[in-house]
Formats: sequence, C-alpha cells, structure tokens
Amino acid sequence: MIIRGCSSQPTSAPRSCFSTSFLLPTSNRHSFKKRVTTFKHELDVVSCSFNSPSTNFRIQALEAKKQLDGVISEGSRTNLQNDHLTWPSPSDKVPFWKTEFPSWDISDSGHVDIQKDSDPIHVIHVTAEMAPIAKVGGLGDVVTGLARACLMRGHTVDVYLPFYECINKQHIKELTLISTYGSYHDGSWIPTNIYRGVVFGIPVVFIEPTNHFFKGQSVYGGSYDELEAYLFFSRACLEWLQVSATQPDIIHVHEWQTAGLPLLYWDMYQYLSLQKPRIVLTIHNMEHYGECRQEQLNKCGLDGSVYATEEKAMDDRTIGHNPERLSLLKGGIVYSNAVVTVSPTYLKETLNSGWLAATLIRHRDKYFGILNGIDTAIWNPATDAFLPAKFDANQIEGKRICKLFVQRGLGLAPEAQDSAKVPLVVCITRLVAQKGLHLITNAIRHIEALNGQMIILGTAPDARVGSEFEGLAQLHNEGPSIRILQMYSEELSHMLYAAADIVLVPSIYEPCGLSQMIGMRYGAVPLVRKTGGLADTVFDMDDQSHSETANGFVFEGIDEGSLNCALDRAFSFYREKPNEWRDTVKKVLLMDNSWNNAAGKYIDVYNNVRFKHH
Ligand code: ADP
Repeated sequence: MIIRGCSSQPTSAPRSCFSTSFLLPTSNRHSFKKRVTTFKHELDVVSCSFNSPSTNFRIQALEAKKQLDGVISEGSRTNLQNDHLTWPSPSDKVPFWKTEFPSWDISDSGHVDIQKDSDPIHVIHVTAEMAPIAKVGGLGDVVTGLARACLMRGHTVDVYLPFYECINKQHIKELTLISTYGSYHDGSWIPTNIYRGVVFGIPVVFIEPTNHFFKGQSVYGGSYDELEAYLFFSRACLEWLQVSATQPDIIHVHEWQTAGLPLLYWDMYQYLSLQKPRIVLTIHNMEHYGECRQEQLNKCGLDGSVYATEEKAMDDRTIGHNPERLSLLKGGIVYSNAVVTVSPTYLKETLNSGWLAATLIRHRDKYFGILNGIDTAIWNPATDAFLPAKFDANQIEGKRICKLFVQRGLGLAPEAQDSAKVPLVVCITRLVAQKGLHLITNAIRHIEALNGQMIILGTAPDARVGSEFEGLAQLHNEGPSIRILQMYSEELSHMLYAAADIVLVPSIYEPCGLSQMIGMRYGAVPLVRKTGGLADTVFDMDDQSHSETANGFVFEGIDEGSLNCALDRAFSFYREKPNEWRDTVKKVLLMDNSWNNAAGKYIDVYNNVRFKHH
C-alpha cells in the first residue's frame, strides 16, 4: 500500500485491512425589548393588523380581542401583568422571531443531580455539524447533546468542526487562534489554522484550511468539492492530534463526511504516532453513502485502489459497472471499532434492506442501535429564552399564550371561544423526499378542510421542491389557517414547538427523528408515521393494550388516506375530549427523552472498545 503525504514513515508493516414555570417570564429576565405598549394599544393593534378586506377576518380579529381578554385574565393570575409582552403582528417591520432575545447560554445548565462516572474517558467528536453554530438537521443536535451529557458525567469531550465561513463567531466563547500547521491535500501541505473556543460549555477545535474549503454562506452546498473537503478535514483532525501529541480514548465520527477517518487512522496514523484511540462511527442516516472515486481518495494520501474490494469500501451498487466506485460510509463501517445507529428500529430496518445491509450483517457484532436523546437544557419550555411565556407540566397556561402569540404574529385566526376549537399542527423539517413531501402537502389540504391550522417551517435543498412549496405558500399564506415558511430559524422553531397542539412527522423513513421528541418536550402531541425512531418513541392513543405508553397518533401506510385518518382521530380527540387532551399534553411534557440515558449506552460502547492498559 502506498501512503502519500505522511509526515513521518510507518513504523511497522502496514496491515491491509483493520478487522477487528410558565412560569410566565419575570420581567427582568425576559422582556421583549422591541416595543413596550399598553395593553389597550395591543388590542387596537389586533383589530387593525388584519388588513384583509374579508368580513370574516374582521370578525376573527374581534374574536381575537375576546380571546385575548380570556388569556390575559388567566395570565394575570400567573403574573402576566408584570410583563411587557408585546403582541406581534404580521405587519411588524422586524418579524417576531428576529427581535432581540436575552442571551441564550445553557453552558452551566443541567449539571445538578448528574452522577459522575468512575472511569473518565476522553472522547473527540469529529463532525460536520454542531448545534447551534453549524446545524442543518438532527446531526448537529445529537453531537451537542451527547457531548454535553458526557461532559456532565465527568468525561473529557472535545468537538472538532470545520471552521465554516458561515459560522457566527459571536456564538463562540473564548475563541483563540492556537496554531497554524500543514495538512496534506493532493500533493501539497495546506496551511491550516487551529482555533479553540467554547460552545454551550463544550470545548471546540475549529479547523480552518487556508484554501477554498468550507467557504460560503451555508454549512453544505458551497462551491467546493464536498467529498474532498471532508476527506481533507478528516485527515487534518488526525494530523492535528499527531502535531499536538493528543491521544484520546475514542474518536467519534459521524456520517459519511467523517467516515474516511477510520481508514486514515488504521492505515496511516497508526503507523505514525497515534496508537491509543479507538474509533466509533454513528450513522444518523444511511441515505448518503459518501460515494467516492478512487482518485478522490488518493487526494487525502491513501491509495484508493487498495479499498476497491467488496470486504473494504467498494460501493456495492456499482459492482460490475465501469468505473466501480467506493463508499466512504461502507469503509467507515468496516474500519470502525463500533458502529452505532440512532434507534433500535432503524437498526433492524438497515439490516433488512438497503445497499449497506450486507456490510452491516457482516459486522453485526459491533453494530448497535441507540435511541437519540434531546438536550433538555437547550429544549426547555420552562426557561426557553425565545418564548413569550414559559410553561411546564404543572403550569401549562404559558403554552396557550405561545399559541396565541404565534397565531397573532403570523396573522392566523385565533381560536374563537364559542366555535369549533382549532388545533394548530406544526411541521418543522428539511423539505426532502425522506420526510414524506406528498404527505405534508396532503396534510395542508386536509387540515384546511378540517378547519384546523398548520405551520410548516422548512428548507428545501432541491430547487424544484422549493418552488412547489413556494407555490403553496402563495396560495395559502394570505389566508387564515396555513403558513408555509421556507427558511431556517432556530428561534422560530422553539416558538412553533411551544405553540403547537400537534407536531406532524409523516416521514417515509426516519432513522430517529428529533422533532417528535422536541415537540413532546413542549407539550405538542406527536402525529407520526410508524417507521424507524418514530416507532420507538410514539405510541398510539387508541391502542388500548398499551395505554400507559400511549402519547400520540400513529399511522402506517404511505398513502394520503392513512394520514387523513390519523388527523381525523387527532382532531376529534382534541375537540371532543378536552380534558383527556390536556392530560396527554401533561403526559408528553413529563416524558423523559433526555440524553442522560442514551449517553450511558454510548459510554458502555466507548468502554467496550477503548484501549485498556493491562
Ligand atoms: P433530520 O436530522 O433528518 O433533519 P431530525 O428530526 O432528526 O431530522 O432533526 C431535525 C432538527 O432540525 C430538529 O432540531 C428541527 O427542529 C430542526 N429543523 C429542521 N428544519 C428546520 C428549520 N427550517 N428551521 C429550524 N430548525 C429546523
């Protein structure tokens, strides 16, 4: 095997393959600084802010006043009168999710009551995403949540992240340039800056090559070759460990982006100076294999041809084609000491179908399914800086204020007291096929027909999908019941979960899914398709045999009829059984989907594979 660009020579013969409380906010902590107006003026704004010519709208606006009266009098019992809550309107110059919020720092939250583990481990996460500074989906949440949970249990954890140009440096504490070193790419050594900083209490190492990699306005989709950039990043992390003589117990890699690291580690850096680390790979989604040409792998200094076998990294889909290609994810599975996926059901699904099934079956003894958790300090309706009113299972009133706040801010008709109750369904998602796009668009129609309300917050990486949803937005966004918001907003997502009666996750497949767990944390009852992690976390209300676990509405088919039926059941429940609905909201608010339990399972995996001195 040829090893290119090694900063020193192998010390032994290379092995060819490794086998082995609404709490309404107190005014000093949380005052919306944008405007302070009197309540009287607020009500005037309510009736003026709907500029629709339709009489209906005016009636709804008047109803809003009545409704608001009710909420405010309830609020005064829980100290709303101390607050300068400014009700938003769609005509606000600055939308309500972009106003000034109190600083959001949960660095010190959650340490209480967590027992320290007796045998601390040093773990380094090498990842393409980290919440909230470089988050696109669940991967970012998982890295931050798991890292914080392990830190709280007394372990040493660092996160290694590309220093994307789009990262807002203001969110990083103590950002310091540590060093500049060279890391190999395609025949030359690229000067690379290493920064250290702290994000939510987690030490982060930022890797900034001085070439064009990771430049652009978003985490993914920059105008550079992503595969080559992440291979460079994977090697740059190992190179930095070597330069700084750092040997953690575990290098934890995630997804295809960093799945090349185990190859580089076992076939290169093990022969240089790194001996102690063992590698754990978490696969959050098998959709992307990290398809790679041999020449691309050559660019990080490995010999691509060595990996072009079925046992190693050959992409099974391309066998017999010319040229055959490699899959970084497959290579990562083969070369890691342990492989984890993000729910027990997804583990079974991936062993039964898909291009990686054969590889996963071959490596079954080191393949585990660990359900993700959510970070209950980041996602906490009792303290959330973005919410107009806080709440928890004991004081739930704040949730109604959040709903009304969002309805007002987006110009949705508020619930009228003496007409049918209007459930608010929220869907916060990447708009990609996996998420059940046809079911989401069908839900818009059906919810409108049922006189409910729906808000979709999502981004579409595919322009065609984007324009389809843009068309739907134009059709619905002026009306009283549907809002389609194509953008990414962490702040708005918090407010929507808090406002929602129902959180919709109709995925075709879903490795774990965080949205249903976050929704529950904010008292939104989940309505999901039974697949992957959704099947492990949501149990149907009408399943009499499991009433103690029942916490939502579940459907199985991928057809519109199955979804409609579940929506019908949920809407009837909401409208006809208000007390039971309230109990369900309390039940989901009290559910524990925190990381602590899941982190314990990861720590067991780390302990099983770590290098132990005898
Ligand atoms: P995936 O990882 O497949 O995107 P998950 O349900 O595991 O799906 O995680 C999605 C995460 O991304 C959740 O935290 C969700 O709230 C968040 N999210 C998705 N789309 C948006 C958006 N447009 N704005 C804000 N947050 C979003």
